[in-house]
Amino acid sequence: MNGDDGLETRVEALLAAPAHDAAALHAALAALYARYRDLAAQIERVTRIADRYQGAERERGRSYAVRYEKQLRQIEKIMRISDRYQSMLRDLNDRLHWLSLRDVVTGLPNRRHMLGRLDDAVADAKEGGAPLALAIADVDHFKRINDGFGHDTGDKALAALGHALCGLLPDGDAARWGGEEFLLLFPAHDLAAARRRLDALRAALPGAMAPLWPDGVPTLTLSCGLTAWRGDDDALSALLSRADEALYVAKRGGRDRLVVAD
Ligand code: GH3
Ligand code: MG
Ligand code: MG
Repeated sequence: MNGDDGLETRVEALLAAPAHDAAALHAALAALYARYRDLAAQIERVTRIADRYQGAERERGRSYAVRYEKQLRQIEKIMRISDRYQSMLRDLNDRLHWLSLRDVVTGLPNRRHMLGRLDDAVADAKEGGAPLALAIADVDHFKRINDGFGHDTGDKALAALGHALCGLLPDGDAARWGGEEFLLLFPAHDLAAARRRLDALRAALPGAMAPLWPDGVPTLTLSCGLTAWRGDDDALSALLSRADEALYVAKRGGRDRLVVAD
């Protein structure tokens, strides 16, 4: 047994020596020593069982840890995939939002986007009393470009015009209103100031378009109808109708001109 400092050997030697056989305590010591050996054997057995049990528990704990690590790695992988997926969805959403407000051919705000801006602009004018003007510009004889040079060249013409308008007006103030029609907004401009801006824009247009425009295709001209907000009772629909009528007059008058509805 552990902790034996030679006592067991001494007891065994005493019990084995024939000289002590007749000693008074011999039988009692022999019986006590036998019981002690018995108990020591039992303790040894229990200790072995406990050691085996502890070993099995350690093994089980290790396999739990391995399984836990594996599951953790799987969860981390799923989270990474989910993050990537969410970021893709966000990008797609941004792109869809952009596309819902932009015209694909010219990159300008589309009619829906501009209608929202116009509503806000009229509301701001009503609240603050600042002037506001707008024009509808239509490309003259655009059908001839399509018929003479093909629809693709027609698309390129509209894209070049969109780019040029973008460079000549503050961001978001020019929009594609329909096929070859554009809406031009002049916030904080009265009729006279808007007219000056629009005259300057029409004069600058051929130069702005030239680098974007294929050789041999005739320069585009615009017919424009311009009007300004007339005060609280002037609805957006009335402003747009006046600009449209003025545009019609410009077309009838020979095109490539600006008509003001005042
Ligand atoms: P006007 O001076 O009277 O305005 O004559 P126009 O030829 O410009 O007008 P019309 O309304 O007869 O024809 C407009 C043409 O614009 C017809 C249409 O096919 C073309 N168009 C509209 N949208 C697009 C487009 O996105 N791309 C191309 N290539 N053509 C377009
Ligand atoms: Mg036209
Ligand atoms: Mg038109």
